[in-house]
Amino acid sequence: MLSTPARCWLCHLPLQIACHGLCSLCLHQLPALPALCPRCGLPASSHGECGRCLRQPPLWQRLTCVSDYQPPLSHWIQQLKFSRTIALRVMLARLLLLKLLTKRRIDPDVVFDLVLSVPLHHQRAWQRGYNQAALLAQPLAHWLQCEYREGVSRIRQRRAQHLLTAAARRHNLHDAFRLEMPVQGRHILLIDDVVTTGSTVTEISRLLQARGAASIHIGCLCRTL
Ligand SMILES: [Zn+2]
Ligand SMILES: [Zn+2]
Repeated sequence: MLSTPARCWLCHLPLQIACHGLCSLCLHQLPALPALCPRCGLPASSHGECGRCLRQPPLWQRLTCVSDYQPPLSHWIQQLKFSRTIALRVMLARLLLLKLLTKRRIDPDVVFDLVLSVPLHHQRAWQRGYNQAALLAQPLAHWLQCEYREGVSRIRQRRAQHLLTAAARRHNLHDAFRLEMPVQGRHILLIDDVVTTGSTVTEISRLLQARGAASIHIGCLCRTL
């Protein structure tokens, strides 16, 4: 059987290392991020935590993203939601891995021993057939040599979050999640594909914190800046 060489998702040239999904040239040409606060992931003027986080810290300790919500990442996330193309999944998870490893090299507070993914309501997961956050979290846990568990379930799904205002999102999510495992003393990496207002990861962090999680690090492909 003839095998076709794997190609770069952007320039379509053959790849030397198929599982990377992007050639090194395209990898370095992904849109650069401005200086971001290591905690909330929003633009900040210095390298430490931003004024917003010092005044009112989020319920998590660190947030790492690959990109703002813009092409090509936004386009790939749409593709991931509607086709579970394995090559795309591995390429996207690797982009987040590279960011997490860079952050861990410079920040001693970056430690994980458990990877969790933001759940979909089972009805939506059933319609789609899979949860895109779990598709990213599984290879990440493997590469980071951490345990991966679904761990959190969504017990209510009222309305699609993206149709709501920030205040309505928080209300929509109140008591929407349930923790299915002990997390006492665990250093958690919580994966979602996109973080916008942060209300979903805030609600899950609230649960994790209440059950004694030692630290919470949010990892996402896109953070709306
Ligand atoms: Zn390329
Ligand atoms: Zn901040």
